[in-house]
Amino acid sequence: MTALPLVFDAPRRTKPPRHLADLTREEARAAVAELGQPAFRADQLARHFYAGVTDPAQMTDLPAAVREGLAAALLPGLLTPVRHQSADGGRTRKTLWRLHDGALVESVLMRYPERATVCISSQAGCGMACPFCATGQSGLTRNLSAAEIIGQAVAAAAAMANGEIAGGPGRLSNVVFMGMGEPLANYARVRKTLDALLTPAPHGLGLAQRSVTVSTVGLVPAIRKLTEEGLNVTLAVSLHAPDDELRDTLVPINTRWNVEEVLGAADGFARRTGRRYSIEYALIRDINDQPFRADLLGKLLAKRLAHVNLIPLNPTPGSKWDASPLPAQQEFVARLRAAGVPTTVRDTRGSDIDGACGQLAAADQVDGVPSIALPVPGADVPSVGGAEEGVALGAESDQG
Ligand code: SAH
Repeated sequence: MTALPLVFDAPRRTKPPRHLADLTREEARAAVAELGQPAFRADQLARHFYAGVTDPAQMTDLPAAVREGLAAALLPGLLTPVRHQSADGGRTRKTLWRLHDGALVESVLMRYPERATVCISSQAGCGMACPFCATGQSGLTRNLSAAEIIGQAVAAAAAMANGEIAGGPGRLSNVVFMGMGEPLANYARVRKTLDALLTPAPHGLGLAQRSVTVSTVGLVPAIRKLTEEGLNVTLAVSLHAPDDELRDTLVPINTRWNVEEVLGAADGFARRTGRRYSIEYALIRDINDQPFRADLLGKLLAKRLAHVNLIPLNPTPGSKWDASPLPAQQEFVARLRAAGVPTTVRDTRGSDIDGACGQLAAADQVDGVPSIALPVPGADVPSVGGAEEGVALGAESDQG
């Protein structure tokens, strides 16, 4: 097992250009005024941004003479699509984005009969060093800005609205922070993103609080801080082991905040919101899938307001670990349920495009090539269906 250091402080790189989504409404109005325009143009720009309009020519409520200038100043294109990959009959789509400094991140849009969920990245890479996760093994490149995180959700909402996803035009209903990165290690930007997701249109995406899931390795002070925010978003905790001895190795942050402390913080969140939190548990063959560990987990959670979401391990390159065989998985589920713990097995979407949790390793390269020819924003992006190569994340917490 490779032991990587835990990294909390993201390396500082050149900042992305200023974007409206990084600003408060007041700041945006002031910025517009500084450009010699009436403050209400900030609201017009916000409306276009959250509606997914990127071409200034379509912003017809702005005077033609100032469209380009205002868009360039406050809505710079921060996310350039490098490629889309589709799976599940076009109902799952993974997008690889290039950021202004060449860093790469991905998001995955998954359409279900009753909802459409986008899995977004909060950091380029990750500093939490979980040995079974490709992103964790690639290390932390940098934090994403709020606008870079929000932009992934806005693009997904636009793709749904424009009918780019099989099934016709629809609405984005859910967002999960389960892409690259540890969202609570980029707290301020993720907090801003939550505001943008929850604020009603046209100043935000207008999602329901319960439809937004923040997934964490268990940064206890940040969970407490999130609890104090008074938001009723869904909390997911990546536990992966019920005992400290094993969790110290699978989720190295456990050496700082152990199982009992993490669950204590999650309990606090549940008490405040009155809502069940989610325990994520990747089943790894002969590592954490033994019946005695199922019993231990059941005992740990029986009296808690928690739900277990089991994830069959998605093997990562070079890893010696494998997913648990089906009988072991079924036994694990049965024991948890017998202990009275609501348990589901995650439906892993997009497996044929590596569209599954923890396989993202795109740090700064595409297919081993450090830089590539980029499509102009708005131009056609090559769509690769069921491609073999690529990196991934995704899958979804199956709470609607
Ligand atoms: N940093 C956040 C978000 C990570 S991705 C967190 O850890 O919660 C969402 C989930 O995918 C986490 O539970 C993570 O542990 C899990 N995961 C990572 N690698 C995986 C893999 N190879 N197979 C299955 N799940 C994995």
